[in-house]
Amino acid sequence: MRVAMLSMHTSPLDQPGTGDAGGMNVYIVEVAKRLAERGVQVDVFTRATRPGLPPVAHLAPGAAVRHVAAGPFGALDKLDLARHLCPFTFGVLRAEAGQHMGHYDAVHGHYWLSGRAGLAVAHRWGVPLVQSMHTLARVKNQSLAEGDAPEPEVRVRGEDQLARHADLLVANTHDEAGQLAGHYGADPGRVAVVPPGVDLDVFTPGDRAAALRRLGLPADAVLLLFVGRVQRLKAPDVLLRAAARLLERAPSLRRRLVVSVVGGLSGSGTAEPRRLADLARSLGIADAVRLEPPRGRPELAEYYRAATATVVPSYSESFGLVAVESQACGTPVVAARVGGLPTAVADGASGVLIDGHDPEDYARALQALAERPALRDAMGEAGVAHAAGLSWSATAEGLLRGYRAAAAGATAAAAGPAGSGAAAEAWAG
Ligand code: UDP
Repeated sequence: MRVAMLSMHTSPLDQPGTGDAGGMNVYIVEVAKRLAERGVQVDVFTRATRPGLPPVAHLAPGAAVRHVAAGPFGALDKLDLARHLCPFTFGVLRAEAGQHMGHYDAVHGHYWLSGRAGLAVAHRWGVPLVQSMHTLARVKNQSLAEGDAPEPEVRVRGEDQLARHADLLVANTHDEAGQLAGHYGADPGRVAVVPPGVDLDVFTPGDRAAALRRLGLPADAVLLLFVGRVQRLKAPDVLLRAAARLLERAPSLRRRLVVSVVGGLSGSGTAEPRRLADLARSLGIADAVRLEPPRGRPELAEYYRAATATVVPSYSESFGLVAVESQACGTPVVAARVGGLPTAVADGASGVLIDGHDPEDYARALQALAERPALRDAMGEAGVAHAAGLSWSATAEGLLRGYRAAAAGATAAAAGPAGSGAAAEAWAG
């Protein structure tokens, strides 16, 4: 089987945790590797963002990244990218025509932009389009952070079109499947729930004291960790306010408290790090706050192992890979009860889910974990067990079932008008 994945707006070769690169990039790399291990040849098409990129770059044995010229070099805003969908689609078709390697059996679009290109590409090749939205504009617009602009109408319309016309929609959670049906009118029979995973070889539990030492922190540090792009939607400011509240509740922690914010600028949040630094100063905790650049995955695992808790106070989160990575490393998560986080975190067992964004609520949960090491360790252990159930191999198996079912359904659809539902029926069956 050969699968063409489309990831127009961000490359799987980019460092996650900065710019437009985040969970989706990690997702594509991990499933491409695991699919290739199962004998599926995966080509990921992405937009070339600088001159001199090779047409084809190696990702893993059996998986490659194909660079397509579409629009000017450099980072482009998502709305600008929408204007370059036509050349991107043309570039994908042209690359395939020039390969002489046989055709693809399925197209897998990631995010609505690629999905729109995918509709045309899949139609031209006569193969199914499997679509992962990753986030949904209508859902995101319901829970924006203060000051964030709503997602534009062009995206909502694009997602509407995909919900109607993709052969199979892949949702991370049952909640997302419900949103696709409820907010976009998707046929529930064409939605497959395939949870994302975590790399259980990299994100492993380990010696907390050794991890603290490697990060240059004292053995008794209370480390509160935020990992991800620094943007309003992920609410790192709530963590800072909670840290300040924690010190009011438990002043004896002042000397031990460290708040690490690991991650870079996001496309839409250029002023965020400065705002955070100002906020830390105004809260009187500037000496405890470390704003750190994006880290590679093995180093990130050390941060998780060293942390007292990982805090994910997002306003909206399609799944929350960071929460699962933290649990896999044996560190509890204190997270907002939004999006995929209730699936990613076992509330009360491996972490604490909080309704809303009141820093006081976060401070209370963090105080319990900081003052009761046995509680932290017990929750950490439960987290390891919870994360063990979420592997990228299982994600790849789920996708493979989806591709096969969609291919069977697409064949049926080509044969007659009743065929299009067959993909999900076969998948569900
Ligand atoms: N990440 C990383 N280095 C960093 C910050 C983040 O590799 O410095 C990765 C993180 O490990 C996770 C991904 O970026 O796998 C973020 O995914 P998540 O689902 O938490 O958020 P999203 O970016 O999808 O909103």
